[in-house]
Amino acid sequence: MNANLEMVRQQESQLLVPIYDRVPVLFERGEGVHLFDSEGRRYVDFLSGIGVNALGHGHPAIQAAIATQAGRLIHVSNLFFHEHQARLAAKLAALSGLDRAFFCNSGTEAWECALKLARAYARHTNANGSKPKSRLLVMTNSFHGRTLGSLSTTGNKKYRAPFAPMLPGVTFVRFNDVADLESKFDGSVCAVGLETIQGEGGVNPVSREFLARARALTKDAGALLILDEIQCGLGRTGSMFAYQRYGVVPDVVTIAKPLAAGLPLGAVLTTHEAAAAFRPGMHGTTFGGGPLACAAAIAFLDEITKPEIREHVRTIGDYFRDKLLALKSDHDVVVDVRGEGLMLAMELKSPDQAKSVVNAALSRGFIINRTHDTVLRFLPPYIIQREHVDALVGVLDELLSGGNVNA
Ligand SMILES: *Cc1c(COP(=O)(O)O)cnc(C)c1O
Repeated sequence: MNANLEMVRQQESQLLVPIYDRVPVLFERGEGVHLFDSEGRRYVDFLSGIGVNALGHGHPAIQAAIATQAGRLIHVSNLFFHEHQARLAAKLAALSGLDRAFFCNSGTEAWECALKLARAYARHTNANGSKPKSRLLVMTNSFHGRTLGSLSTTGNKKYRAPFAPMLPGVTFVRFNDVADLESKFDGSVCAVGLETIQGEGGVNPVSREFLARARALTKDAGALLILDEIQCGLGRTGSMFAYQRYGVVPDVVTIAKPLAAGLPLGAVLTTHEAAAAFRPGMHGTTFGGGPLACAAAIAFLDEITKPEIREHVRTIGDYFRDKLLALKSDHDVVVDVRGEGLMLAMELKSPDQAKSVVNAALSRGFIINRTHDTVLRFLPPYIIQREHVDALVGVLDELLSGGNVNA
């Protein structure tokens, strides 16, 4: 059965809410680091469905976990117990240094829950009957999702503008500007929230100084430090969590993208202390943390906690980064190379250059992505090998030399 791209495209244009400007490729099958389209063309996947398929496509352990669980139990709702949520929470607690988990269905839902937890925690700890603190300090250039709460804290005016007014009590701090953070932080702040490495904003790591200051300010004031590791967490940087590279432990972490290896699952990880602000009935979800997604997530964590996988992400990430740095020294159009492990980016001079490189790479069988207009982003599966990196870098070298990107 071979679906036809033009037919599907035509139907979607009539039938779907016009939200996505899709790349004209129809994928039918995946295997390891490769995807296959409806014409049987093979592509090397350097995007992993935006950081989701971290073990590549068709991983045997994931397939087995999903097949087994699908045969036993897919859904029960959160009115009842099932065997996997606590097992998964125990693993995540051990890996993160935090205590408790809440499971939901996506990144934006995890972030939404973290914001609600911050407001609830401020009320819960408000001793003297005065107005509880409620301000949220979040970052310019950030991305936390598309629901109204998450969107209100996303530092991108283009995304927010069509849906104004936004949630009150949100203040944007210039990312990595310690003086700006200090000037905006006061006793009315219930949480400081940021991505440890900004993803959609162009792969920008938080500075050590900024994160340390955010930790100290929130700790002293009894506010929460919330880190969004939806894109950079769960082994992507070669550490289980990116904050572990900074020696900082937040009060709340949000995770999602690769967590259930392609099934929708998000989570908020937090301390016993912060979690005590939530009581039964204050928050919830029908699907979140269902048996199927949790079983897949347990299998995913069992794979990525193997020392050889983490070691591989570090080694291949460094190798890839060095190759990108070499491209930078050879090509004037490359402005910067950034990132850690297998969350890497190469910034070009103009949006048109970045766009044409992404399209040309696709036509040569390499899936890469452009974010923040000028930034080529690479989020390959953790099983990517040198031969794939070499092949992509060869193509990039050619494309960056070509007249087509010097417009
Ligand atoms: C993708 C992403 C989100 C939103 O996750 P969804 O699953 O798309 O809702 C939030 N924060 C960060 C850092 C992300 O990369």
